[in-house]
Amino acid sequence: MPNNPSGRQSIIAANWKMNKTLEEAGQFADNLLNRCPDPGTIEAVIAAPFTALSTLRSRLRATPFRLAAQDLFWEPAGAYTGEISAAMLVDVGCSHVIIGHSERRQGFGETDAMADKKVSAALQAGLHPIVCIGETLDERQAGQTFDVLKRQIQNSLASCSADVMPRIVLGYEPLWAIGTGVSATPQQAQEAHSYLRELLAQRWGTEAAEAVRVQYGGSVNPDSIAALMAEEDIDGALVGGASLDVDSFIQLLTYS
Ligand code: PEP
Repeated sequence: MPNNPSGRQSIIAANWKMNKTLEEAGQFADNLLNRCPDPGTIEAVIAAPFTALSTLRSRLRATPFRLAAQDLFWEPAGAYTGEISAAMLVDVGCSHVIIGHSERRQGFGETDAMADKKVSAALQAGLHPIVCIGETLDERQAGQTFDVLKRQIQNSLASCSADVMPRIVLGYEPLWAIGTGVSATPQQAQEAHSYLRELLAQRWGTEAAEAVRVQYGGSVNPDSIAALMAEEDIDGALVGGASLDVDSFIQLLTYS
């Protein structure tokens, strides 16, 4: 259901990263459903570790909350020890998957070309990819932010055609803002988001560009979310630290 003038539905996603045991994940879901059974017009997503997905699926199955994984592998099956396919994520109840998070790019050598293959595999399986991009502090200070975003968009979405673009969610996550407590200002984030929409329009056309939802991520918390969400091209938030506590996550979902 659309809830901003552009017609795009807002999407707020928790990225739990490598946190929560089965018991903790289950308790979070129970508390969430008791206290906030319906996030209203917002699409609310929890990106949990692979180990917690099945438990969360049992609890969230008949609710409006959506489940995401934090990564996938592009091959459909086979001898890929340690990897998880798109079909497996669908099987365990995921509707979304994070792709190309900066922690995977920086810590595990993931490239735009790998992100592109993962996006294709996710789309083919019916998942919504949440594709993360963003510049480092050095790149921002050197005035390279737009160049970096352009390269990441062109290469991470290289195989996408215009018709799949409405299923893509972009996460603009400047690396200097992730986990640092220093969020981009709403103006800095809006400037980047509006540039991203321009790039999308140049490559896939205005209609496709208007349909893509662009989340901001980087130290979003219950105090900062409303001002960010008030910006025209900010369609949601991807939240790490502040999504781990259920009270804080509920405040994020009910920011308005
Ligand atoms: C993230 O990891 O996607 C993120 C935005 O983390 P944090 O909210 O903790 O900065």
